[in-house]
Amino acid sequence: MTNANNKNSGNLLLYMILTGVVLGVLCGWVFGPKMHAVDWIGEMFLNALKMMVIPLVLSSLVVGIAGLGDISKVGKTGVITLVYFLSTTAFSVLIGLVVVNLIQPGVGVEMSVAPEAETYLKEARGVTDLFLSFVTPNLVQSMANMDILPLIIFSLVFGGVLTTMGERGRSVIDFFDVINEAVMKIVHLILYTAPIGIFALIASKLGAAGGGDQFVAELMKIGKFAFTVIFGLLVHGIVVLPVILMMVTRRNPWKYFQNALQALTTAFSTASSSATLPVTIECAEEYNRVSRRTSLFVLPIGATVNMDGTALYESVAAIFIAQMLGVDLTFTQQVIIFLTASLAAIGAAGIPEAGLVTMVMVLQSVGLPTEGIGMLLAIDWFLDRFRTAVNVWGDSIGCAVVDELETKYVEGG
Ligand code: ASP
Repeated sequence: MTNANNKNSGNLLLYMILTGVVLGVLCGWVFGPKMHAVDWIGEMFLNALKMMVIPLVLSSLVVGIAGLGDISKVGKTGVITLVYFLSTTAFSVLIGLVVVNLIQPGVGVEMSVAPEAETYLKEARGVTDLFLSFVTPNLVQSMANMDILPLIIFSLVFGGVLTTMGERGRSVIDFFDVINEAVMKIVHLILYTAPIGIFALIASKLGAAGGGDQFVAELMKIGKFAFTVIFGLLVHGIVVLPVILMMVTRRNPWKYFQNALQALTTAFSTASSSATLPVTIECAEEYNRVSRRTSLFVLPIGATVNMDGTALYESVAAIFIAQMLGVDLTFTQQVIIFLTASLAAIGAAGIPEAGLVTMVMVLQSVGLPTEGIGMLLAIDWFLDRFRTAVNVWGDSIGCAVVDELETKYVEGG
């Protein structure tokens, strides 16, 4: 297919996906729980995307790391990627802290405790668990559990070692290259079902929340908090990230956004960075023309560890809970929240509502009661969609930024 053809069919698909989003909201709003009927369609679409994730992460990283060249080039690109991930995460937490301190959404709100909060408390992990999760004793089991972090570590080492093995290593890398291309072709096919899949996901989720009226009633209970989160996410997504993109790459952020929109709507409807990964790669390579070498290296790692939206959410939520309880946090405590929120975002898996689990770590770090999470449960599924979209947007922009810097400073010597 030519580029122009690609672009046209991409545009048509995008319009259909956006129509799916609008119809999904309308139907979920009006028909409420009746939309349960289309639940299976959404789940099937989600499963199809998830099915691609493990082969995609493994093959992308093996090919990506081999494409970067020798170990010093990999090291330099790795450092650039890490600096981008850490600095944008820090920026987003900072924005979260500023907006929540200015708007003060928790002041005057009475805290109620939901029994479901227990589930999240049980799943909570500490900082050492986070480090432990980097290495798995059983790779197959990790893959079966969709535990991506250890798979990333394995794939990077595996790909790196293959590059040192001459011709024989090269043939294995070529093998993974073919797998990667084949997987992306399947992703391309799956994307044709995205309009209906995304429609079903949104309609059934909003329907399960009781439809429009009940949703608005729940939202109103902590409306100021929801507003603070969404406002902070918008500042990060519309101002900070595009400015970074523009300054480093001189690309037009609006165009870049339009080309990434398929991935962003998929993120919004699935609430999962991992499930969205195949689409994020497709948009970066096909529409935004980021080099394959960089996108295969940056995006799988980004989908798992770079979560700007989640980081922002964690800091806003922790301070919201403190405000509800009338706890005045000191500057040092806010710095601790800044650090743990960043860490919690790195530790959160790219799956729906993972941020709630790692939030326990943030609350405990400053002695706030973890039961406060109960206040957020009813509406978290909704806010999760916004933060996941920002997570994916941060990865997409990171990919272009690293690509530019890599071409300039690593390839150029
Ligand atoms: N759902 C988010 C993601 O997949 C993680 C979270 O904040 O819960 O990116």
